Amino acid sequence: YKHAPANLAEVMRQSRRQSADCFMVYRDMRWSYNDFNDHVDALASWMHQRGVGQGAHVAIAMRNRPEWAAAFVAVASLGAVPALLNSFGQTGELRAALEDINPCLLVCDADRLTRIGLDYLGDSTPIIVVDESPADAADNVHAYEQVAATPVQTLPEVMPAPEDTALILFTSGATSRAKAVVSNHRAVCQALFNIDYISAFTAMTSPAAIERIQAMGRPPVILTAVPLFHVSGLHAQLLTALRAGRRLVFMHKWEPKAAIALMQQEQVTQFNGAPSMVMQLLREADFHTEAVKGGLAGLGLGGSGLPQGLIDEVLDSVSEQLVGNGYGMTETNGVGAAVSGDLFRLYPDATGLVSPLTEVRILTPAGDEAAVGENGEICLRSITLMDGYLGNEEATRAALQEGWLRTGDLGHLGIGGFLYVVDRLKDVINRAGENIAAAEVESCLLQHPLVQEAAVMGVPDEETGEAVVAAVAIVPGEALAEAELQRFVAEHLASYKVPSMIAIQQETLPRNPAGKLLKQQIKQRLMS
Ligand code: ATP
Ligand code: MG
Repeated sequence: YKHAPANLAEVMRQSRRQSADCFMVYRDMRWSYNDFNDHVDALASWMHQRGVGQGAHVAIAMRNRPEWAAAFVAVASLGAVPALLNSFGQTGELRAALEDINPCLLVCDADRLTRIGLDYLGDSTPIIVVDESPADAADNVHAYEQVAATPVQTLPEVMPAPEDTALILFTSGATSRAKAVVSNHRAVCQALFNIDYISAFTAMTSPAAIERIQAMGRPPVILTAVPLFHVSGLHAQLLTALRAGRRLVFMHKWEPKAAIALMQQEQVTQFNGAPSMVMQLLREADFHTEAVKGGLAGLGLGGSGLPQGLIDEVLDSVSEQLVGNGYGMTETNGVGAAVSGDLFRLYPDATGLVSPLTEVRILTPAGDEAAVGENGEICLRSITLMDGYLGNEEATRAALQEGWLRTGDLGHLGIGGFLYVVDRLKDVINRAGENIAAAEVESCLLQHPLVQEAAVMGVPDEETGEAVVAAVAIVPGEALAEAELQRFVAEHLASYKVPSMIAIQQETLPRNPAGKLLKQQIKQRLMS
């Protein structure tokens, strides 16, 4: 770089690459960097002609695919604000998100358009639709192919201020309705530099793994299995690949066998995903082959806590790769704590080293600062923090207090700047005055050889205030008695932590697209 970019538009300009090398793969589509630039230039020209400029909100709602990335980069290049909808959202969720955003343009695929409903959108907001030729549709609906054929014009070199709004992302909606997080350019740019620090630090501290990668002599190819509309997909995969010239392989739908087939076919070197995804991969024999695992340089986990069994399994069977864990959230643009490579193997229980951009304070329920090793609410302050939740001052006031973000996560600081995330505060169960982290009980249940997934929750109880209940998914075709599983937990944990009820099922537990358990949904089903 000539200088560190101070806004997203500049990041886009500086990462532009003239190259016939393949940048993105999706089904039978293969776009080179040159192809990508052509799409971006045409889209940006079309948008510019229609007055999309600095500060304008542009909603993007489609599954992971090359056009998603082209739309994002076109919008960001104009200094406009990409607002990224959760593509898994159903009608009500997508409409609520659009209401928050109030976009001047919507770029979507045919599925999302059907879910939102053309009638709902009216005829004033222009819409670009991928995937369908809306020949007889309304005047405000434009086919992507036509837009992508727009003659390219020279566009102004916009230079938004660091404090201007850069991006709108939605939280995953694991604990309540998804919130629209507004971030400025400085926050997003610094979050991208933070990813650079982590990679450089990992490379410096893990010489053997780096030597192995160099000996493999393969160009970096990333399997993007997480949604592009969350920080895990956007910052850590799309924008990082764009800046560093890496290749992305998109999946149509997450499925471990399909992921493994793609890893082999496309010579994938990097996989980052939710712990539940990694757990599914490790269970497949085909993953543990020279062509798949042998070709992997790195494996990244994050988004939820790592159960003890998964840590052990990864350390054991993915022994030569750079393995890492990352903690962050939409509100911090993904920044928080991370650890990978040799350091992960030395401190596998730690969630990560606190980012140098971030200050951490652990608050006890009384509001005092906790001692080293003492659990409390994790509060973060950093240059990467959001400005607030769009159109929700009350939630913003509750989350941001004197510049500090209350994360709603429980954890503690350890010696050496390591952060240990224990659980979400909302998932801590208070049974007769004793606090129980659901994650600890889940971790224990998952140690049982027949248990594949576990969700532990608190439900109201007359005697104890809250009772501990669980739902587990077991290996299909096997049988397991509730009492046997309760005995298993009692062998490992104090008796007050043993769930008074465990629902045992063969089907998988419901998760959101970020791979997080939908505990409210599970709880409702258990209670009905
Ligand atoms: P919502 O705020 O809408 O309920 P969400 O918190 O899941 O959804 P995100 O911002 O995508 O939305 O996720 C951030 C949260 O995920 C963190 O606050 C934390 O609870 C959890 N998390 C992320 N990474 C890790 C990790 N490495 N270990 C443990 N928990 C993690
Ligand atoms: Mg959250």
